[in-house]
Amino acid sequence: MNETPDAGAPVETVALTLAEAEALSLRALTRAGADDANARAVTAVMIAAERDICASHGLFRLEGYVQGLTNGRVNGRAAPKVERLAPGVVAVNGDRGYAPLAFETGRSALIEAAKTQGIAALAIRDTHHFAALWPEVEALMAADLCGFAFTAATPMVAPAGGARPFFGTNPMGFGFPRDPEAGPPPVFDQASAAMARGDVQIHARDGRPVPEGVGVGPDGLPTTDPNAVLAGAQLPFGGYKGSSLALMVELLVGALIGQPFSYESDAAARGGPGAPFGGELVLALDPARFGDAGGWRTRAEAFYAALLAQEGVRLPGARRHANRAKTAQSGIALPKSLYDTVVALAGPKG
Ligand code: NDP
Repeated sequence: MNETPDAGAPVETVALTLAEAEALSLRALTRAGADDANARAVTAVMIAAERDICASHGLFRLEGYVQGLTNGRVNGRAAPKVERLAPGVVAVNGDRGYAPLAFETGRSALIEAAKTQGIAALAIRDTHHFAALWPEVEALMAADLCGFAFTAATPMVAPAGGARPFFGTNPMGFGFPRDPEAGPPPVFDQASAAMARGDVQIHARDGRPVPEGVGVGPDGLPTTDPNAVLAGAQLPFGGYKGSSLALMVELLVGALIGQPFSYESDAAARGGPGAPFGGELVLALDPARFGDAGGWRTRAEAFYAALLAQEGVRLPGARRHANRAKTAQSGIALPKSLYDTVVALAGPKG
């Protein structure tokens, strides 16, 4: 849940421009051993999250990214390689680096395949995924493609009926392209857990209880204590329905593209603890190739108008786009404790 802290003591913040935040992130990642391409790709997704006020995938992640580089789990000098497995299937071997550079490396081949075939898939392998999925989906929408993205993680979520971690938080992203002049495109990107792990951690950091239904403690009993949830198990959203979506993501990533299931991820990783090791499946569909070449955009606009006629309804992604417009003017405000961590990770200016 990408929310503004709403309970407990007010959190002291430090104002930063996006450029300042970017510079700190680049310094910290480079200092931890990443080369320029890897540091820039990871920084881009974190700064995009800060820009859109998605705290759980912004600079809050920097410490984890740095830790993965310094403890040898993640290759900071990864050189991802693209391979065409079938006319509509592109694979990228991520060279055990972080996923953003692997996606960047395979993006143009995926877009080209989708424009040619009408539908195409990108199988990202041997990466560590620690980010939100909407950047991938938005990159496809910028090319007028409809996009889906899925990734598994490490065991954190109990399957419906169980009380022990088995599934990852297994997010899925979807977006449908839209003329930017008409308004922000609909994009949803959600964990199959009731709450993303990063948000449970942020609740723990800020001393705030999580809502009921987010998880169970080590004793298997429901709790609103985020630390107990972190030690116990998170729960899927919507009971068995979210559990089935988590299962779908496991199969798409673990079986379809041959990457570790969440329960295998830690054993397949090298080095110390950190970001989940495994794969990501990205699908791209070209609406212009599905039989209504001239009409899909108008049809979608009519649909949005009908949907948004109901008071209180908004498109998924609208919050991020509104935040994007705001932070472009005002910059961002980091919690002071996070700012101090980021500055310490960045070290002295070189
Ligand atoms: P949220 O519950 O915060 O949001 C899920 C989606 O619902 C968003 O697209 C959001 O759009 C949309 N939404 C929220 N409220 C409304 C509303 N009132 N009307 C319409 N749409 C709405 O997401 P999660 O906590 O489940 O996940 C957060 C992030 O964590 C995701 O980006 C996900 O990819 C990431 N994640 C990454 C993992 C990894 O291993 N890499 C693992 C698990 C999660 P909007 O943004 O506009 O509010």
